[in-house]
This record gives sequence, C-alpha cells and structure tokens, in this order.
Amino acid sequence: MTYDVVVLGAGGAGLAAAVSAAEDGARVLLLESEGEIGGSMLQSAGMFTAAGTSVQAAMGVEDSVDRFFQHYMDLNQWRLQPGLIRRFCTQAAPALEWLLGLGLDVPAERSGSAHHPGLCRSGVEDVWRGHVPRDQGQGVVHVLERARRRHDVDLVLHTRVHDLLVADGRVRGVVADGVEVRAGAVVIATGGLAQAPELVARWFPPALAAGDDLFVTAGTGSRGDHLALGEQAGADLAGIGWGLLVVTAYFQTRHHWDAGFPPLSRVYVDRSGLRFMDEDASYAVAAGILDDHGGQAWAIFDEAARLALPPGYADWTPDRVLAEVAGGRTAQAEDLAALAGRIGVPAAALEATLARWNVTLPLGQDPAFARSESLRAKGVTEPPAPIARPPFYAVRMLPAQLVVTHTGLRIDEDARVLDRTGATVPGLSAAGEAGGGVLGPRYVGGGNAVANALTMGRIAGRTAAADARAGGPALSAPDDAAAGAPRTADAAR
Ligand SMILES: Cc1cc2nc3c(=O)[nH]c(=O)nc-3n(C[C@H](O)[C@H](O)[C@H](O)COP(=O)(O)OP(=O)(O)OC[C@H]3O[C@@H](n4cnc5c(N)ncnc54)[C@H](O)[C@@H]3O)c2cc1C
Repeated sequence: MTYDVVVLGAGGAGLAAAVSAAEDGARVLLLESEGEIGGSMLQSAGMFTAAGTSVQAAMGVEDSVDRFFQHYMDLNQWRLQPGLIRRFCTQAAPALEWLLGLGLDVPAERSGSAHHPGLCRSGVEDVWRGHVPRDQGQGVVHVLERARRRHDVDLVLHTRVHDLLVADGRVRGVVADGVEVRAGAVVIATGGLAQAPELVARWFPPALAAGDDLFVTAGTGSRGDHLALGEQAGADLAGIGWGLLVVTAYFQTRHHWDAGFPPLSRVYVDRSGLRFMDEDASYAVAAGILDDHGGQAWAIFDEAARLALPPGYADWTPDRVLAEVAGGRTAQAEDLAALAGRIGVPAAALEATLARWNVTLPLGQDPAFARSESLRAKGVTEPPAPIARPPFYAVRMLPAQLVVTHTGLRIDEDARVLDRTGATVPGLSAAGEAGGGVLGPRYVGGGNAVANALTMGRIAGRTAAADARAGGPALSAPDDAAAGAPRTADAAR
C-alpha cells in the first residue's frame, strides 16, 4: 500500500496536516487510534491565539507579528528557538484565515471568555489575541473533517500505529495493523502524553505535586506514542519538563465546563492568611503564582456565595460543598478566626484580609491585585459581593488539572523532525503536542496549544507533501486500491 503522505493522529494537528498536504496535491492517508476523530482538539474551546488577523482588524485591534513574537519570547524568557517561534508567530494568522476560508466562524465581536465566540483576552497578552470559534473545538474539527472528505483523504479509525518504516536513514512509511504502508513522508501528530502516568512522571514531573488530586482532561489517545515512534528514527526531544496544569479545587475531576466554577466572591489566601494574587489571573500563569506560595491556596467564601452557585454542574454546587464539609475535606466555621484555626493560618491575618476585601472589590476597586481589570475583561459588570455572611468556607486549590504536555519531537521551522545531531530526519515531520519546541515553559494564554496544533500542523502537511514530491517513493505512484486497501472511515462504520 502506498501513499504520498501518511499522517498519524486525526486530532487538530493531524487533520490540519492531512488537509494541507492534500491541498498541495498529495495522496494522503490519515490513521487514528481511537474510534472517533478529534482528540483533545474536540474537547477544547478551540481558542486560537494569533496576531494580525482579519477578526482583529474588523474590530479595530492593532496588532502585528513582531509584537506577538516579542511577547511570546519574553514570556518564555527566550528559552525557545527564535527561528521556530518567528515562523509560528508569522504563520498563526494565515492558518486562522485558512480555517475561516474553510468555513470556521469567529465573529468579529468582543467575547468575555473561551465560552463565547469572538475575540477575547486569552490570558496575559498586551493585545487581545484569543480567537474563539463558534462551536469551539468541535467547530474546528468539523470544518477540517469536511475539507478532508472533499479532498478524498483516506481515514482509518481504530488504528494505533507503533512502528515507522525506516530504511537508509529515511522514514518510508508506517506499519498499521500489521500492514506496511509506504509513504513519501510521514507526519506524527499523535498528541501529548498526559494519559500515560509513567510518561508524565518522566517528562512532566511537576504534575506529580498534585498527588491523588491530579486529574487529566486531555483526549484518551494522548498516550505519548510520539516518543517511541520518534526513537525509531533517532529523533531529538524538546519541551522537556513543561506542560499546562490548571488550578482547580482539590475535589474537581473534570474540566470547568462540566465541573462548574468557584464563587465569584472569593479570595485566595496562602499559609500566611494573606491574599496574594488576582483570583481571576489567567490559567496560563496561575499555577506559577501558586508555586511561589507553597503550591496551594485556600479559596475563602461565605454562605451567600455557596448558595449562589448555579445548578447543573458536576462539582461546584451548593450541595457538593456541604458534602465536602461533611467528609471533613472542606473547612467550615461560623467565624473567620475559627476558620483560620481549621486551615492553620494566622487568624488576625485572615480577618484583616477579609476586612480589606470588603472595602475594596465589592466597591469596584482592587488596588493591590487589579482583579477589577480581569473581571472587566471577562465582561463582569457587577462587583463581587462582600464576604460577610457566616458560615465561612475554605476549599484547597492547587494545580491539579493536567491539560497539555509539551515534550515533543524537536522540530525545525518547517516542522521537520530533527535528530540528535541537529539534522533533519528525511521523510519525517511532527506537529501539535507531538512536535516539540513551540510550547514553552510558560503557556502564553488560552489559545497557545490550539494555535500550535493548527499552525504547525498546516506547515507539517505542506512540508510532507513537498518532501514526498522531492524524494519520497510514493508521489505519482498512486495506490490502485489493490487487495489490502485501507478501510476508510465510512467503510469502517
Ligand atoms: C478540555 C480541554 C480544553 C482545551 N482548550 C483549549 C483552548 O481553548 N485553546 C488552546 O489553545 N488549547 C486548548 N486545549 C489544548 C489543545 O486542545 C490541545 O493541545 C490540542 O488540541 C492538541 O492537538 P494535537 O493535534 O497535538 O493533539 P490531539 O488533538 O489530541 O490529537 C492527537 C490525535 O492522535 C491520536 N493518536 C494518538 N496516538 C496515536 C497513534 N499511535 N496512532 C494513531 N493515532 C494516534 C489521538 O487519539 C488523537 O486523536 C484544551 C485541551 C483540553 C483537554
């Protein structure tokens, strides 16, 4: 069986790679380990960070690639390769425009969060760059799947690939379900490693600090297969030790869309009993702030806030808080001094913290932590209520939700995989979480990982098509659907 390009993984990066390779004239096979396409991308908000887009322009937001690049590099303390990041920042907007052309809808209107389509402040950027599509990650997967069908890209589900065909120093295909599939180029887009605990322990040990509270929301296929596949071709790694952990309550086990949100009217205190952060700081930086304060915090709120929690969520509900109190895991007390005693923080400091809160944010100001600015960006118009009605509650918060891992096969600006001598591995590209070097020590706000997957996926597809044309065994040798032809997704159903 022979193709120009074989793409492993039908998530965000894999779909983008498959479609762009097909647009460039390649005959493409897309192999997916699970029973459905989409991977983590399907679950995501689809928020895409990019600079200089038509959406920003329509809203009068001035932005540029240079500005994006500077911000990205500074936030990551220049610990990433500038050439690769320059390419990523340059190509993010064209990748978004490409998706808009394929039918993705990002309305040119202000959005308060990843839950509403439009342009939002994705986190810590100076200019709003968070493009949230209608139907979120599902919308992204849908338009790419439509394009895949239009371009006759073959898709095979339930096919977890473990082996590359490597000969004479060149990747020449893969082994899928025991069948050799030859190809001019292969793209590894198998996602991250969050679902493989032993790989998390090795490649992203900071996640272990959450202990039994750790939970994973990445797609089920995120088993780190890129590492073993890359090893077969002598690939180098990048992004080691980095990933995205989101701060949640210890009792959460799902993404906040299902889990719900802690009360708006809350403060976080560390073991000194003092407030230390903007409670609405972007998840891009919140875990790092907690690191400086012992790795965890207490969310303090009152009875009015508990009762105001909206119904319908799995975790943050009025009843769940009481159940956690009954189980002895969440502290409750009639006054702040007693609450301080239960969580082991100085009573005077906790009382002073709440007294200060009650005369600042409920009156619309937060001179110390500027949370009023974050709330404004989220479209919150009413100031949070005072925290004054007993009983009071203290819930432990920590970086416990593992969403993205950054350890991938080291890639160059064209998404070609590099070996340990710095040379490209002929015939092999990688993208998304499987491709290392774009996602850095600091997540640059919501939209970083989706932009990486789709931008670098699109680049990888183009590179693979060009590589197949230049030197691969397959181009212009189309498979004639001989015996053993792959099941398409349709046939597999
Ligand atoms: C709940 C949630 C919300 C998120 N929201 C955002 C957001 O709004 N913005 C943002 O920037 N990021 C977000 N992210 C992160 C982002 O979605 C991912 O980083 C991104 O989708 C990764 O894309 P990918 O193509 O690398 O991996 P995936 O989309 O996970 O795709 C990898 C695919 O490869 C398949 N696969 C794995 N191994 C094999 C194998 N051996 N053979 C064949 N197939 C294989 C998998 O099953 C999967 O389908 C979110 C993540 C989650 C979990």
